[in-house]
Amino acid sequence: MTAPAISFEFFPPQNLEASFRLWDTVQTLAPMDPRFVSVTYGAGGTTRDLTRDAVATLHKSSGLNVAAHLTCVNATREETLRIANDFAAAGVSELVALRGDPPKGSANFEPHPEGFANSVELIEALAETGKFNIRVGAYPDKHPEAASAQADIDWLKRKIDAGASEAITQFFFEPDTFLRFRDACAKAGIDAPIIPGILPIENWKGARNFAKRCGTEIPAWLDNAFAKAERDNRQDLLATALCTELCSDLLDEGVESLHFYTLNRPELTRDVCFALGITPQITLENVA
Ligand code: FAD
Repeated sequence: MTAPAISFEFFPPQNLEASFRLWDTVQTLAPMDPRFVSVTYGAGGTTRDLTRDAVATLHKSSGLNVAAHLTCVNATREETLRIANDFAAAGVSELVALRGDPPKGSANFEPHPEGFANSVELIEALAETGKFNIRVGAYPDKHPEAASAQADIDWLKRKIDAGASEAITQFFFEPDTFLRFRDACAKAGIDAPIIPGILPIENWKGARNFAKRCGTEIPAWLDNAFAKAERDNRQDLLATALCTELCSDLLDEGVESLHFYTLNRPELTRDVCFALGITPQITLENVA
């Protein structure tokens, strides 16, 4: 098994304690030599400034290749493109371009009257600037708003054709979910790489609730496994073993890249990377 290319997702810190946690996460995971790290953009655009600051600071001080998430919720086209330009001005040319979820309390996405109506419009406008490498979201379990699994894949093709270079998937619990999706994408003529999004399960209750909201299928055996692990206080051991097994099954099927949702808690992700044979790459510069 050759070591995969890996990347990590962080979220921007909202207070001082969270800033230290993010920095600790970065310091723990940076030696794994990620291809890129990405910083989320709060639902409804709520962390716009925090994301911009976190991205700029990480880019300047970590030496990592930083990708900024960008959504078009609650913003005019001009505002959204201005934020993208701010990223470019700070030297950040990698974006994860998303439509975004509806703001809290609204069931459906309502485009801003002067905003981008959907992710394809956003991707086209970003691609037109020629300044960015654009990644997009994909949904192996089908996005809850998609009319069908095929409609979801057709829409993903439109996003790639609009100028995206790669897709990163929502998390999923079983390798076959991703592998079936990868095959269906290939059949639909999508030749851009599709990177599986991996969620090390820090807290089963939280992951379960999140999965429900995202429309991610929850296998019954997983519920049972975590119920037993909780009884024996072995959740971390189970989470590490399950996540390692999921990644290892994907790698056995030819997957070359993994994107970890770290939730700014590095330990599980680090342990899974170690188990997969991804070891810290200490540069001579750091040893000296
Ligand atoms: P789209 O792919 O544009 O739309 C979602 C689905 O709806 C599509 O898959 C498609 O089936 C259907 N659809 C939408 N419009 C049309 C149309 N016109 N015609 C046909 N079908 C359509 N959210 C945040 O707020 N901040 C983040 O930082 C963030 N990061 C994410 C990172 C990743 C890797 C992923 C997978 C998701 C992330 N999200 C984030 C969540 C994301 O914003 C939501 O899933 C949102 O509901 C969809 O965004 P999208 O860009 O994938 O949408």
